Amino acid sequence: MNKITLLVVEDEEAIRDMLRFSLSPADFILMDAENTSKAMDVLAHYIPDVIILDWMLPDKSGIDFIKIIRKQDLLKDIPIIMLTAKAEEDNKIKGLMVGADDYLTKPFSPNELSARIKTVLRRGLIKSTSDEIKVDRLILNVNKCQVSIGEHVLKLTPTEYKVIYFFMLHPNKKYSRDQLITHIWGRNAYIDERTIDVQVKRLRHKLKPFGYHHCIKTVRGSGYFFSGADDEKTK
Ligand code: CA
Repeated sequence: MNKITLLVVEDEEAIRDMLRFSLSPADFILMDAENTSKAMDVLAHYIPDVIILDWMLPDKSGIDFIKIIRKQDLLKDIPIIMLTAKAEEDNKIKGLMVGADDYLTKPFSPNELSARIKTVLRRGLIKSTSDEIKVDRLILNVNKCQVSIGEHVLKLTPTEYKVIYFFMLHPNKKYSRDQLITHIWGRNAYIDERTIDVQVKRLRHKLKPFGYHHCIKTVRGSGYFFSGADDEKTK
């Protein structure tokens, strides 16, 4: 079984340490962030399997963070388990209403968390067995975070994956560089517009051996759009 990647968003160092020491490295890859802005930095480069989210954080509440996550195409399906203190238990209902998948009341045991993570993921897998986006022979598997053409799996970086995921999800629509950055990296991302050009160039390079590089079309002077039709004339 593949290791489960976790992003723990929690300002209490003791809890982050406890999880780091107690969740087995054989089963989990753990990333952590002490506030939501650091969590967004992590999410700009990596899509974890599950987010463990504290309710009270120094820069934003966990609830506001969930609302942001659930609005972003690439992040909205990540299962979220909320951590609440005993005194905040009423809030768990609010948490579940805005889209948390489960919650745990502090203090909790790592074994309990581990079991919840696996349950949430099992639910997720059942929900998304058909989570494939197909554009001609190009297939994006949402569960495996992988793009393949026939038998061949493209070797993509997490960022390239996010870019092609966005394109394949929104074919035949023009997007400016600015819009692409907002959609792919989030509104508060400090990403240079040239980053998009670089990512597109790399993706085209990787798609070229299969003849799919023409799918990502340049809109002169403004941005890009993704077309499933292999029609060079619209380039
Ligand atoms: Ca806290």
